Amino acid sequence: MGSRKVTSSEHLDWQGKHVTVAGLGVSGIPAARALHARGAHVTVVNDGDDARAREQAAELEALGITVRLGDGATLPEGTELVVTAPGWKPDKPLFAAAREAGLEIWGDVELAWRLRGPDAAPWLAITGTNGKTTTTQMLASILKAAGLRTAAVGNIGVSLLDAVLGDEQYDVLAVELSSYQLHWAPSLRAHSAAVLNLAPDHLDWHGSMEAYAADKGRIYEGNRVACVYNVADKATEDLVREADVEEGCRAIGFTLGTPGPSQLGVVEGILVDRAFVEDRHKNAQELAEVSDVDPPAPHNIANALAAAALARAFGVPARAVRDGLRDFTPDAHRISHVADVDAVAYVDDSKATNTHAAQASLAAYESIVWIAGGLAKGATFDELVAKSAKRLRGVVLIGQDRALIREALARHAPEVPVVDLDRTDTGAMLAAVQEASRLAVAGDTVLLAPACASMDMFANYNKRGDAFAEAVRELGS
Ligand code: ADP
Repeated sequence: MGSRKVTSSEHLDWQGKHVTVAGLGVSGIPAARALHARGAHVTVVNDGDDARAREQAAELEALGITVRLGDGATLPEGTELVVTAPGWKPDKPLFAAAREAGLEIWGDVELAWRLRGPDAAPWLAITGTNGKTTTTQMLASILKAAGLRTAAVGNIGVSLLDAVLGDEQYDVLAVELSSYQLHWAPSLRAHSAAVLNLAPDHLDWHGSMEAYAADKGRIYEGNRVACVYNVADKATEDLVREADVEEGCRAIGFTLGTPGPSQLGVVEGILVDRAFVEDRHKNAQELAEVSDVDPPAPHNIANALAAAALARAFGVPARAVRDGLRDFTPDAHRISHVADVDAVAYVDDSKATNTHAAQASLAAYESIVWIAGGLAKGATFDELVAKSAKRLRGVVLIGQDRALIREALARHAPEVPVVDLDRTDTGAMLAAVQEASRLAVAGDTVLLAPACASMDMFANYNKRGDAFAEAVRELGS
């Protein structure tokens, strides 16, 4: 036992292999089932031992899968491969033991990549600190408009394993990948991939900005056709330069400015392609109008360009880019226009849970009453406030870590009026909206872009956004 380590060959014989699955949950359960169905001896280990875990364990045990609850640290005897939930931190003792034994550790994405069939659909992959879900959905919409069988999968609610092993046939997949998933996906090779942007996030998990960037950069490894990067974010271009790609794979930039050769960009309100055209030194292809993108905020135009670049790398015609962007509607709580009340627009970007996202949304409006605050997760607010100060009519602060934002405002925007609501109860949102409406004048935007997580006051960002919308409705009634 332990002698037959699982190696990197793509089509493995799973019969009798001893595989440890780390973590019950959205990826662990399908992984355990899929491996068991292929004849592997599966042991699931899980830190928690609550009622839900016991229920899930009972279901797996009924199939003949071994489950160890309450001990996610010890590597079971005889393990030949570890398949982990993507969120498990790399410094866990279980992984140290696995590495010590010379074993491979795969995440859910790696497993899906290895289990996909020989005629499986190619992957167009997307990562970045912000904009992943939106861009992945835009890409799927464009691919559909081109008549291709596709789905938006990965870190987006639809498990890659289900997509790869299910009955549905696809021509191509639009795959959203988190930095955790990329960390555990050493042999993934996408057709083409994009890194949208890179700002500090999840550094406690990765250990450092360098490690975080390196994990994001894995998405480019082995790309066949295009590595898509953000011209305005040099770090993404650096990752392309460092990647080992297939011969002939091209670096394609996207920019909100006029595109150079091998770039997609914007000219006089038109999204244009100077990468996937004949004679790119002289020609450009019109793709869509800025007004085809919903919402037409700068960061979202950037998302649309990245999606278009991947679609064009896959050979999609210009018309389908336009149609796909027109068909696309963003998920809730991502810069959704809730209502106009007394000529003031109320916009819900509750999904702006970090400063980088909030900065993008603040950049989209001229004159803003900003509702912010919540759980800061170790972030600092100086850069965000300094960059946005000139757009702020006023600020209303809520939530646990609001003092951090208040102090940054005092340093960089001392003239901006601030209402500090000393409350973290759910009802505080109504008070916040009322205060914001007092500060706003006709033509302003009241923007909920908290730059913080929501869990101090709400179950999640959806509930926070719902409370905002509810408060706006009350205001208007
Ligand atoms: P992710 O899946 O990466 O979390 P989403 O598409 O769900 O990204 O968007 C999350 C939030 O990030 C949005 O509400 C918006 O505030 C912000 N955002 C979206 N796209 C970008 C971008 N390209 N750059 C910066 N912020 C962005």
